[in-house]
Order: sequence, then structure tokens, then C-alpha cells
Amino acid sequence: MKKRVGVLALQGDFEAHEKALVRAGADVRQVRTAADMAAVDGLVIPGGESTTMLKLLNFMDLKEPLREFAKEKPVFGTCAGAILLATNVENPVQESFGAVDMTVERNAYGRQIDSRVVQLTPEADFQERTGAGKLEAVFIRAPIIRRTGPGVKVLAEYDGSPVLVEQGRHLIATFHPELTPDSRVHQLFLSKI
Ligand code: GLN
Repeated sequence: MKKRVGVLALQGDFEAHEKALVRAGADVRQVRTAADMAAVDGLVIPGGESTTMLKLLNFMDLKEPLREFAKEKPVFGTCAGAILLATNVENPVQESFGAVDMTVERNAYGRQIDSRVVQLTPEADFQERTGAGKLEAVFIRAPIIRRTGPGVKVLAEYDGSPVLVEQGRHLIATFHPELTPDSRVHQLFLSKI
């Protein structure tokens, strides 16, 4: 049976994630309500604007359901989604869900050259689990992961900072794997469900 995965569809580039998850072989649903969330076995929080997403989560009464969901089921946060799942957010300090033990600094690559495409060399463990080769990473006003706790495993780094990490069932990317044809990162997430 296909894995049932939700994409939080309040704001941001959720449609690109939907397509990437379908390519990776999942049964994908858009999540806008607590009932939608209850019907999926894993959840992707897309990139976008984390402050706006927080407001919409509040408006849709999804904050508590999301917190509970992350206690039991896998969540994959990219960029703004990564910010929402961190334990601590800086620049400025912002509320977050603390699913992954890390501190992130928003918009940390600066203003002038804040978006870029780079080739990452993922850790051997990532390549063994998902397939060998470099990983193209699109950064768009990305946060930088400034601290990771002992339970967090780094799967790829860029410029000396982690950009793809996992903690148990949860996965975090500060870049946008949904914008490249390579489905290894989404496949890794599906393997956690
Ligand atoms: N800069 C955004 C934020 O702080 C994140 C950017 C993104 O998701 N591409 O929420």
C-alpha cells in the first residue's frame, strides 16, 4: 500500500512538495484542518514564510494538533518548515514546535546573495540509504542551523553548517529538495513512515 503523506497547505510551496512526493511514490493529501492531519501518517511542512505560517496555524487551530502529531509521527520541514520545527529560533526569536533539537537563525545568508543553488556532497550514510551521488540544493532566504543537540544526525553540510539533518523520525532541510528532480530526500522521508 502507498504511504499516506500530508503536505501542510496553508502557505508556501506546498504544490512542489506534492509533486515531489508523488514522484517518490506516495499517496499525497493537502492538510488544512485537524481532520486532514489526523488522516495522514507523515507530514511535510513546506518552505514559505514561517511567521505567516504560524499565524495561519493559529487561525486554523492547528498548533496543538501539529505538536501532538510530531510526538508520534514523522514530520519533514524544509526551510520555513525547518524553522517551525526547531527548538529555538533567532533573528528574531519566534515561537516554534521543538520537534528537532536545534537552534536556527532565520535569513542568515544575508540580503544580497540570499538565494543560491549548490552541489552538496551528502554524508556516506545518506548515500548508502538513498543512492550515491551529489545532491543539488536550492537555498531561498534560508535559515542557518547554528546548533544541533546530541540526538540530531547531520546528513549534509554546506559551508560548515548542517543543511540536512534528522532526529529519529523527523527530517529537516534548510534548502528545497522539492525544486529539483532528485527524489532521494523525499524517499528518505517516506522510509521513516
Ligand atoms: N525566510 C523564510 C522564513 O524565515 C524562509 C524562506 C523559505 O522557506 N524559503 O520564514
